[in-house]
Amino acid sequence: MKIIMLGAPGAGKGTQAKMIAEKYHLPHVSTGDIFRANLKEGTELGKKAKEYMDKGALVPDELTVEILLDRVAKDDCKNGYVLDGFPRTIPQAEVLDKELEKLGDKVDLAIDVEVPDENIVRRMSGRRACLKCGATYHIEHIPPKQEGICDNCGEPLVQRDDDKPETVQKRLTVYHDQTAPLIDYYTKKNILKTVDGTQDMEAVFADIVKLVG
Ligand code: ADP
Ligand code: ADP
Ligand code: ZN
Repeated sequence: MKIIMLGAPGAGKGTQAKMIAEKYHLPHVSTGDIFRANLKEGTELGKKAKEYMDKGALVPDELTVEILLDRVAKDDCKNGYVLDGFPRTIPQAEVLDKELEKLGDKVDLAIDVEVPDENIVRRMSGRRACLKCGATYHIEHIPPKQEGICDNCGEPLVQRDDDKPETVQKRLTVYHDQTAPLIDYYTKKNILKTVDGTQDMEAVFADIVKLVG
């Protein structure tokens, strides 16, 4: 099963993708996580990606596509995966489809987690992340057991540089310009399903499970 998560920054794609990955035993593949891991390790890719991420812009397609295709070619992706944050542009979606087609394969389901822009800035200002294990929390809605500390690994939680309100606004504009057209793209392929992302995390997940089966 190959599932794509669509939605604005902060809509809850990552949160839901991790839950899907666990329930259906699929790897969770997040291009944002891959970039952040590279940033932490100080690789060339990480440095390049940071220039764009800090501005709230997209990392160029050439770079992103290569990283993603390398990742899904790994053994653990043989039986499928949940893509979180990829594709983010029509050209990215087209490359993915072409590569899958070569293998006689296709994307099964694109899930759009719908959250209006008004809710996004608040969601993002409360987001806290563990840079070690990738867990995500929200200071009001999904707090860690101990304030500021990751439940899984005990690392201090941080606010992402790109979650500052000015950058979030920019990312929303980029989302509407470059990523939202994917809703149409997957609708035309008859694989788009929408869930109401303003519900609490378990209710959103229950709706997703109904779709995935
Ligand atoms: P969010 O979870 O808020 O949607 P991500 O962690 O998915 O954010 O991505 C963070 C940043 O990484 C994006 O703002 C963008 O700069 C970069 N990025 C991640 N995935 C892609 C992609 N598929 N194409 C281009 N840039 C990407
Ligand atoms: P995305 O990957 O789409 O950028 P995240 O999964 O990182 O979004 O979620 C953004 C923020 O909102 C995080 O702080 C997360 O803990 C919180 N969050 C996720 N889902 C919900 C929900 N259903 N209700 C309230 N807050 C949520
Ligand atoms: Zn952690």
